[in-house]
Amino acid sequence: MTLSERDKKHLWHPLTQHKLYPDHLPIVRAKGVYLYDDKENRYIDGIASWYTCMYGHCNDKIASKIKQQIDELDQVVFSGFTHKAAIELSEKLIGILPDNQQKIFFSDNGSTSVDVAIKMALQYHYNNGEKRSKLIALEDAFHGDTFGAMSVSGLSVYNGPFEDFLLTIDRIDVPNKNNFEEVCIKFESLIASGKIAAFIYEPLVQGAAAMKMYEPDFLNKLLKIAKKYHVLTIADEVMTGFGKTGRNFASDYMSIKPDIICLSKSLTAGVAPMAITSCTMEVYNSFYDSDLKKGFFHGHTYSANPLACSAAIAGIDLLRSEGIQQNIKLITNRHLEFKSVMDNHPKVKSTRVLGVIFALDLDIEMKRYGKLRDKLYNFYMKNGVFLRPLGNTIYILPPFVISDSELKKVYSVIKQSLEVV
Ligand SMILES: *Cc1c(COP(=O)(O)O)cnc(C)c1O
Repeated sequence: MTLSERDKKHLWHPLTQHKLYPDHLPIVRAKGVYLYDDKENRYIDGIASWYTCMYGHCNDKIASKIKQQIDELDQVVFSGFTHKAAIELSEKLIGILPDNQQKIFFSDNGSTSVDVAIKMALQYHYNNGEKRSKLIALEDAFHGDTFGAMSVSGLSVYNGPFEDFLLTIDRIDVPNKNNFEEVCIKFESLIASGKIAAFIYEPLVQGAAAMKMYEPDFLNKLLKIAKKYHVLTIADEVMTGFGKTGRNFASDYMSIKPDIICLSKSLTAGVAPMAITSCTMEVYNSFYDSDLKKGFFHGHTYSANPLACSAAIAGIDLLRSEGIQQNIKLITNRHLEFKSVMDNHPKVKSTRVLGVIFALDLDIEMKRYGKLRDKLYNFYMKNGVFLRPLGNTIYILPPFVISDSELKKVYSVIKQSLEVV
């Protein structure tokens, strides 16, 4: 039996209607920006495997750090014990996170980092003797698939059957220059109810909403309003974190810093599932008490797994290296050049770039998961490029290590694809 046939026997894939999409392509290895299938076809990983493998697949520096760690300490309970890899990682993270972030809490994935953030925010007010029962989130937000994260997400394809079981959320539109006044007024009036514990947002880029982007000034103003009313602010940087927007974190573009930050995806350079929820001393101090019940009773079995921590340490070292920082600038410039070409294309409605993120909306109505989208996807794969169009949006979020010629190939395949739709 082939791998594809064996796959069909017992596996249930994520985000997949198996009756419509029975086939899954076996990927047998990966190196740098390339994925290799079981027939030795190779594909440029144009979205860094969902924004995780930003330093390239099977990166030697990451691998050697993990190999060192696996001979030393594989796993240990993180309540009552601590270890060097977690300590070193916390120091490195505090070194690059916005200055007000002082405490690092571990969990397993982006969704749990958001659930942790929501629970922190709710208990923060509870511990301070205030019952605040609601959160504010943006329209079309995506924060993950666990119940807390699902509640604050606003994309109904994911949430339909569960809507009756979610937390109470108030929603505001993503601010732009036309609706900004209106959004601020609504935001402030929602907050004035006194019921709002926190405002959660994907800073500057809403990934799952097809790389929708918005301006730092607008977000900064909302953060200012939230601070004024003592509403905690939660930046979900699971997608935007670690250099993808051109700065270490998207929050670096705003002068007002969030109280809580969620990180995952490229945190471990794409080799292990792990997440961080960081927070300020003020948030931490509301839990710090001689009363046991005021503590934060949340913990996952694999919290701060040493192997994942060691990968993350190596990842941050790479992120801070001159080579990667230069590549980020180079990719951004290439994206801007490609953008100016595509802006004049008759089939293109709009384009946008932030850091290494490029997105283009086709001037064609398309379903998020429809036939035309599949046609594009298949075209890219046939031409050796892995991209996942979202509805009528084609986006690139390549590993930082992509070369000029590989990037050119991605652009040229995208250009050709506009002829087949
Ligand atoms: C991917 C993502 C999540 C969820 O992360 P998982 O690891 O898939 O649970 C949450 N928020 C944002 C912004 C994301 O991009």
